[in-house]
Amino acid sequence: ATRPRRDAAGIAARRRTNFSRAMSISYREPLHIVRGEGAYLFDASGRSWLDLVNNVCHVGHCHPRVVAAAHRQATRLNTNTRYLHESVVDYSRRLVQLLPDPLRVCFFVNSGSEANDLALRLAMAHTGAVDTLVLDHAYHGHLSSQVALSPYKFNRAGGRGRPDTTHVCELPDPYRGRLRAGQDDDLGPRYADSVAERLFALNAAGRRPAAFFAESLQSCGGQVVYPGGYLSSAFEHVRKAGGLCVADEVQVGLGRVGRHVWGFELQGVVPDIVTMGKPLGNGHPLAAVVTTPEVAQSFVTGMEWFNTFGGNPVSAEVGLAVLDVMRDEGLQAHARRRGDQLLNGLRRLQERHPLIGDVRGEGLFLGVELSLEDRRPATAQAAAVKEAAKARGVLLSTDGPDDNVLKIKPPLVLTAADCELFLDVLADALAEVEQSV
Ligand code: PMP
Repeated sequence: ATRPRRDAAGIAARRRTNFSRAMSISYREPLHIVRGEGAYLFDASGRSWLDLVNNVCHVGHCHPRVVAAAHRQATRLNTNTRYLHESVVDYSRRLVQLLPDPLRVCFFVNSGSEANDLALRLAMAHTGAVDTLVLDHAYHGHLSSQVALSPYKFNRAGGRGRPDTTHVCELPDPYRGRLRAGQDDDLGPRYADSVAERLFALNAAGRRPAAFFAESLQSCGGQVVYPGGYLSSAFEHVRKAGGLCVADEVQVGLGRVGRHVWGFELQGVVPDIVTMGKPLGNGHPLAAVVTTPEVAQSFVTGMEWFNTFGGNPVSAEVGLAVLDVMRDEGLQAHARRRGDQLLNGLRRLQERHPLIGDVRGEGLFLGVELSLEDRRPATAQAAAVKEAAKARGVLLSTDGPDDNVLKIKPPLVLTAADCELFLDVLADALAEVEQSV
């Protein structure tokens, strides 16, 4: 029997019947996407959409080399990791080559949430402690253990508030935070004082930290680039107190920031644990945790660690193909060039559009924060700009505590012409929204 073909309304109806209402869908008029190629998506009517949202299909939607690698391996063998297999070993070597010493012990999992959950277990095993420090507005995953580390979840609608073992540090946001670029000095170390304060309070309560979790640039919190010296000061405080430093590179890692492979390199630090996800498999569920031999040794407790799907031969071949494409197509350098082009164009737009409060980012991880007078968040306007851009064929998302930051995090294969198209569309969208206010 053939499967019934549904139109957009039919699919939406089926979702309402069989899916939880807790799941959301993008846009007032949802899109019915049926195909992807490079930085573009195509809907059922054949219309193309420039995708500035998908940070998972890193080297481009349906990249032929990645698809071929998955197909090749899927026709030969797919098993768990209990047999010797070359691909996963090759992949670990290639991944570790991209990381600074002494990060060289890999665990393969299937999602960013799983990676962060394992990072937490490693940190607890290594330190014997259970308390964690996180940044305000952070999101680290959908598992119970990760909702507990995510103020983005536990402090918002439906959340149960801060768990006793989670300690929230001030987000070092140089635009909207307490200390601001252009007004205050030494922003990085001074924001890190918040970490020291949380550690002091923990110590006073007779407790010790297991880990400090931070994205290397904060995504859900609104594409926030930390001031220089923030992570080095924060890491210093955490290590002095005996905790481990975990860099969540699930969104920002693998060349997206352009100048470096990993976001933490922008801050000149080396974490104890790095978690990675989204881009590794270009859409195939592949995620990883990489740590030091010392931390890995602490996890050898007699309890076996096993993950049915993590690091299977198909995933490993997909991961290898993504790294090959990154190298052969020079996509990290490309991300930097296109990112600089967009930053320059966005800063020119900022001069003409008072709605643009701040333009920031690194490589193809950019944010445009929309503000009214006195930096009041322009939340409704951000939603309207997103819809106006969509009406012109460009897909954007919004995020941040006030949902007023336009997020730009496209597949890295975005062309110079795509960037110009987006800048033109954004100018029109802003003009339309400014006029309607
Ligand atoms: N960490 C960060 C920073 C993320 O953005 C996400 C996903 N949005 C996760 C972890 C969780 O990853 P996943 O959805 O693959 O479980």
